Amino acid sequence: MLSFDTIVAPVTPPGEGGVGIVRLSGPKAVDFLGNTFHGKVNVAGMESHKLYHGHLLTSGGERVDEVLAVTMRAPRSYTGEDVVEVHCHGGAQILRSVLDLFLDIGARMAGPGEFTQRAFLNGRLDLAQAEAVIEVIRARSARASRVALDQLDGHLSREIYKFSEQLKQSLALLEAHIDFPDDEVGALDLPYLLDPLRQISLQVEALAGSFDVGRVLREGVNVLILGRPNVGKSSLMNAILGESRAIVNEFAGTTRDTLEEQLVLAGFPVRLVDAAGVRDTDDPVEQEGVRRAREKATAADLILMVVDGSSLLTDQDMLALELCKPDKTLVVVNKSDQAQNCELESLADFPCRVAVSAKYNLGLDELLVAILEILKSDAVSSGNEGVVVTERRHREALLLARDALKQLVSSAGESAPLECLAMDLREALSALGLITGETTPDEILDQIFSQFCVGK
Ligand code: GDP
Repeated sequence: MLSFDTIVAPVTPPGEGGVGIVRLSGPKAVDFLGNTFHGKVNVAGMESHKLYHGHLLTSGGERVDEVLAVTMRAPRSYTGEDVVEVHCHGGAQILRSVLDLFLDIGARMAGPGEFTQRAFLNGRLDLAQAEAVIEVIRARSARASRVALDQLDGHLSREIYKFSEQLKQSLALLEAHIDFPDDEVGALDLPYLLDPLRQISLQVEALAGSFDVGRVLREGVNVLILGRPNVGKSSLMNAILGESRAIVNEFAGTTRDTLEEQLVLAGFPVRLVDAAGVRDTDDPVEQEGVRRAREKATAADLILMVVDGSSLLTDQDMLALELCKPDKTLVVVNKSDQAQNCELESLADFPCRVAVSAKYNLGLDELLVAILEILKSDAVSSGNEGVVVTERRHREALLLARDALKQLVSSAGESAPLECLAMDLREALSALGLITGETTPDEILDQIFSQFCVGK
């Protein structure tokens, strides 16, 4: 275990609450508690991982708070060091005083993510697991938190170690043939070397591909509502929000005064955006409006292209349609409560269509089903996730590893010297190590942990 100073920080969020928790970690954590805690059981007599009642007193004997305190002895703690947690009353002033008490006797205020960083440095978590901590905290849907919890559990890391193990075996085989002449170890059986590496290259690539799902779980799906003025875009947004609120209780209530709303559909966080660019402009050819709408359309995972079923298509409708890619567009034929007059034949390029009445809440179930269908066919949903990559950094490392393995296979085909193949293998191993942290440069580590907040 590495030796550090003793750090302290509140681990509960600022503001008022029933309980506020201050955590200490480091070689002096238990001593610092011993200097301040007064209860029936003194700190020396405390069993690890058990809560004890008492009071925190200043060195002058002044009472700071009535608390419950727990010691968690190394290495069985979050950081792998001696950890102390003090459960005090959850008020800003009390927490400040408790913090000051420990700072005054020699603890140092923890930096952002420092507890988790120590857990990583002490080998309690690898880097992918440490990154999962923040994912768990930030998850925006039940499904996203499940994937993050799996990663924290080590699902992704185990997959990476499995690949690395195979690469290390292949490397050992290669090195034996580099170090010893063929008459001692026999000629290298190339297929025996390459077959498993080809397999791994494919598996690594597939894992990198799971980022399509991971990104959506992490960042949410962008759904854009597009259409000319007055077709019912705002009404549709309200109707979807109302409907989803009725069918999924995970929805976090918000007032409908912005052009963007969040909801959760079948476990996917969804960002619903009204294309104000097209709506706000009187002149459809007005450059800025169209440019903004085009930008939003490009960024969208799915476009709900709204047309008014009760009237003929106009140039403005066609202009909006030009911004849509058929495979990620659902045409919403609105105002189904009125006599239909829209020439849907001219929308032949857009086979996905649903008729609704946003005003009278008709057809909304079908609309939500159709939305999910498109998101699913987009590989965005796979009921049973398996291991999913949610970090762009992990995806890039996987692709680096795949490229190195491809290079190896192709060099082998060209009868390159074995040293070259070994170099490619080491490169692939090093790329995989970026994910678990074994080969991650310090500046990247610092950058990762600095994204955490103080107390994590
Ligand atoms: P936006 O400009 O595209 O956002 O359109 P709005 O949502 O503001 O709606 C324009 C007008 O169409 C309003 O008067 C709505 O009440 C009306 N409207 C919207 N949806 C429907 C519908 O399904 N049926 C009928 N009859 N009227 C609708």
